[in-house]
Amino acid sequence: MDPYKMQPEDPMCPICKRNQGTSVEVVPGRDAFEYSCELYGQYRISRLTILNVKHGDPTLLKHLSAYTRQKWVLDETVVTVPESWEEVAVISRDTTMHQRAEKLLKVIARRSNQPGDEVPIYPDLDYPLVDVRDGSGLSYFLAYWRDSGASN
Ligand SMILES: [Zn+2]
Repeated sequence: MDPYKMQPEDPMCPICKRNQGTSVEVVPGRDAFEYSCELYGQYRISRLTILNVKHGDPTLLKHLSAYTRQKWVLDETVVTVPESWEEVAVISRDTTMHQRAEKLLKVIARRSNQPGDEVPIYPDLDYPLVDVRDGSGLSYFLAYWRDSGASN
């Protein structure tokens, strides 16, 4: 995709290429866009960085989704994807199994109002929240907590 030809009425996330559930706005006064994506959350990205991620390592890009989505959901912050995006992606790539399991508990706690509530977790959309690369990675941690009795 050529970001110079991108139109707000044709919203496709420049990183994961999804258009379902995606919207985009031009950031006023800046050469950047603010996207809302089901995987990446709400984030800002410059035209230059869009070109930069276009040929990025797909595995690392999946971890970039952890960075933007966790900032959006857990910190309620719209981050700007840095030009050197690989540096933030490797942080998610390198988290421990223990940290990932803890992150899932945080997500569950955030989504529930009452103890014992049924908490909706959608592995194929929520995996960036726990630093894994796909839905089966998240399902692993769901099973982990289910088996340990901490969630049901
Ligand atoms: Zn996306």
